Amino acid sequence: MAKPVVAIVGRPNVGKSTIFNRIVGERISIVEDVSGVTRDRIYAPAEWLGKEFNVIDTGGIDLGDEPFLEQIKHQAEIAMEEADVIIFITSVKEHITDADENVAKILYRTKKPVLLAINKVDNPEMRNDIFDFYALGLGEPFPISGSHGLGIGDLLDAAISHFPDDSEEEYDDSVIKFSLIGRPNVGKSSLVNAILGEDRVIVSSVAGTTRDAIDTAFVGEDGSEFVMIDTAGMRKKGKVYENTEKYSVLRALRAIERSDVVLVVLNAEEGIREQDKKVAGYAHEAGKGIIIVVNKWDTLDKDNHTMKKFEEQIRSEFLYLSYAPIIFVSALTKQRLNKLPEIIERVSMNQNLRIQSSVLNEVILDSVAMNPTPTDKGKRLRIYYATQVAVKPPTFVVFVNEPEMMHFSYSRFLENRIRDAFTFEGTPIHLITRRRK
Ligand code: GDP
Ligand code: GDP
Repeated sequence: MAKPVVAIVGRPNVGKSTIFNRIVGERISIVEDVSGVTRDRIYAPAEWLGKEFNVIDTGGIDLGDEPFLEQIKHQAEIAMEEADVIIFITSVKEHITDADENVAKILYRTKKPVLLAINKVDNPEMRNDIFDFYALGLGEPFPISGSHGLGIGDLLDAAISHFPDDSEEEYDDSVIKFSLIGRPNVGKSSLVNAILGEDRVIVSSVAGTTRDAIDTAFVGEDGSEFVMIDTAGMRKKGKVYENTEKYSVLRALRAIERSDVVLVVLNAEEGIREQDKKVAGYAHEAGKGIIIVVNKWDTLDKDNHTMKKFEEQIRSEFLYLSYAPIIFVSALTKQRLNKLPEIIERVSMNQNLRIQSSVLNEVILDSVAMNPTPTDKGKRLRIYYATQVAVKPPTFVVFVNEPEMMHFSYSRFLENRIRDAFTFEGTPIHLITRRRK
């Protein structure tokens, strides 16, 4: 089940990013952020009363040189498209401005819940001024102060009360959900059509239950069931802001979240770009299965080394994706496309792999024998035992005497040993170190 999304809208300077940061808190670890995605700070995970969700600051979506009113209009439209709950922020200091009214007018068109928040209500005396805001026609205004952290709790209480029922699972567990992500023009739509076009039975084209995404279910040659998650509105292009880089990243992130396996599509003609690394990094951080698909392979003049060279380049640019298989395809000539379903299936199986504790601990014991654990001030890191605690992605807890002695390099060594021993191709694995109680 994908996490609900809360989008923040409003004209500039009302305090959107201040409130975004309040809601998100400092949960984002910059150290972990290999991709740079989270540093953009327009889309981030948050939690309130045990409910997890994602927050979008639409103010951070730069729509280029569009006039001011067009920008906020498009930001509001993006919120309407992407969010389950919209928080519309205004400021008590300026009262209702023309720009606020413009945003409100756009929001009238949505059936999604809109919460009206009046920011900069820094002290109780200012609360009387919020009643004017009923005039916006969006219901009861919530007085808040982003900089003082006031009223945010009530606002979030209201937001989570509108979340879709989380007991509703979208698809059966046996169905493999995947998506194709990548920059505009790498050939995602062409690949989708080519994959679906050939002798494959399309079971249904279902409109996503909770969102506007159009997913396509189909059955592979061996009977496995797949659902292709629509990315970037591939089959209903045409929005003015569709090609905005930040927006396409945002849509990719939403698709990644709903997927088991993510196909990161690169364009052989153009090579690897910064944005490719960003979305791939997000899929990695989200613990999804990853396959790197180099499309437009037909466009290159090739010799015996072309593929190897391209692969080396990918490996050096995507260091953290060393586990991801790479496939060179062409949507135009359909070269190697028939291999995709079986690779997707294999990666999905690896995501769900469970390793018996006894076998796992043998591997750990062997590893420690081969490369002794680190020592510090005469003390040695002792590993007592390890156990797998989760799948999707496979997650292992290693119980030790002193967790802080588990250095990154040793943890990486253990991870590699586990990878060597089992078939985790295509999936990240997580290693957590805990003190034995
Ligand atoms: P955005 O453009 O909507 O993202 O607005 P920002 O979050 O950048 O805030 C704009 C300005 O308003 C900044 O100078 C903030 O410090 C200030 N600000 C944000 N929240 C509050 C608040 O609750 N009270 C007051 N007095 N100022 C605030
Ligand atoms: P998207 O924006 O990622 O969905 O990309 P499209 O599927 O719309 O493709 C962008 C352009 O690349 C179109 O003109 C396609 O015809 C072309 N294209 C897509 N795949 C291939 C391919 O494998 N080989 C060649 N030569 N062109 C391709």
